[in-house]
Amino acid sequence: MAPTWDRPAPEAAPPPRPNAAGMDLPELKALAASFGEPAWRGAQLFGGLYRQRWTDWEHFTAFPKPLRTRLAEAVDLRWPAILHSQPAEDGSTKHVFGLEDGLQVEGVHMPYERRTTLCLSSQVGCAMGCTFCATGSMGILRNLTAAEIVGQVVAMLNHHAPPAERPVNLVFMGMGEPLHNLDHLMAAFGILTDPQGLAIPPRRITVSTAGLVSGIERLGAFPKRPRLALSLNATTDEARSRIMPVNRVWNLEALAQALARFPLQSGERVTLEYVLMKGVSDSLEDGRRLAAFARRFPSKVNLIPFNPHEGTGPGPRGAEAFAPPDEARVGALCRLLSDAGLPVAVRRSRGQDVAGACGQLVRDLRARR
Ligand code: SAH
Ligand code: SF4
Repeated sequence: MAPTWDRPAPEAAPPPRPNAAGMDLPELKALAASFGEPAWRGAQLFGGLYRQRWTDWEHFTAFPKPLRTRLAEAVDLRWPAILHSQPAEDGSTKHVFGLEDGLQVEGVHMPYERRTTLCLSSQVGCAMGCTFCATGSMGILRNLTAAEIVGQVVAMLNHHAPPAERPVNLVFMGMGEPLHNLDHLMAAFGILTDPQGLAIPPRRITVSTAGLVSGIERLGAFPKRPRLALSLNATTDEARSRIMPVNRVWNLEALAQALARFPLQSGERVTLEYVLMKGVSDSLEDGRRLAAFARRFPSKVNLIPFNPHEGTGPGPRGAEAFAPPDEARVGALCRLLSDAGLPVAVRRSRGQDVAGACGQLVRDLRARR
């Protein structure tokens, strides 16, 4: 699939009827005004939609019944629907969300003792064309709207109802390149972090990029923004350009400079995700180059042994067959980085048995209509 990130991704068609789910506060105030209601009704709508995560106009019992009826007649309240859910043995659940136009994206709910992590999609498919990634093989179908991004969170929280005191972390590591959909991403971020909305602290939200430097620069300019993760995955331009076409535009040096310029807060680090692929990215020289790269700015490293998926082998998409490294090598690389003084963790992807792990999220294009 030829990469196409250099132009904007296609957008969703506007809904036939207004849909309150996904509207921001000014839009909800305008909606209230169009019903002859005062602005505070807009704030009540915001609280009901995002704080309470209500899914039906009937839930708005503080509203007079006639107003609820008029709203129900003229305005939709529809979130992306969970079409199916596949629990994995490790406790995580992969969900398939159905969108208005029949397309589908995936999200993963991962419960931990002290937090809940939700892995979210930002686009249907992806334009970046990384050769090791299942989503990359779909190409880009379109951007998700802010409503569809927030909707994945609302749907998963309503489905699993994790204890209110357990903090929620969001990672944009599902389908799509979040920085290729930055406008909708940041609109969703506003609703997700609003204390009157889902009230998720910005530091608990991480967007992962394949290295779209133009997007990294734009993201850095927001006064409030999510944290940043970079999918590095290779340590020479030769290897990285082969598996991640975006490296032909912004190479490792351009990336390192962009990250060194990125305005981090005190204590904040850029996460470097590094997928270990046997014979591609897992040599000890790779480890040393990775350490040198990571030391150029405050960072922490996540080593992710490659998850095999259908389409992993050599075939029409690529000449390379990807495989995870030997366990001994994973350990050796982890030690090398930690001896170099870097915070490092090995991330075994959760949800592997249901293809919900990193890079396994792919919707069969035939299933989309
Ligand atoms: N597009 C963004 C975010 C989604 S991809 C990005 O690339 O950063 C989420 C992560 O999954 C990325 O770090 C990517 O390198 C990793 N990934 C993709 N395919 C994988 C695979 N088969 N095994 C393990 N990780 C994979
Ligand atoms: Fe897109 Fe990320 Fe997959 Fe690359 S690794 S194709 S950027 S989803």
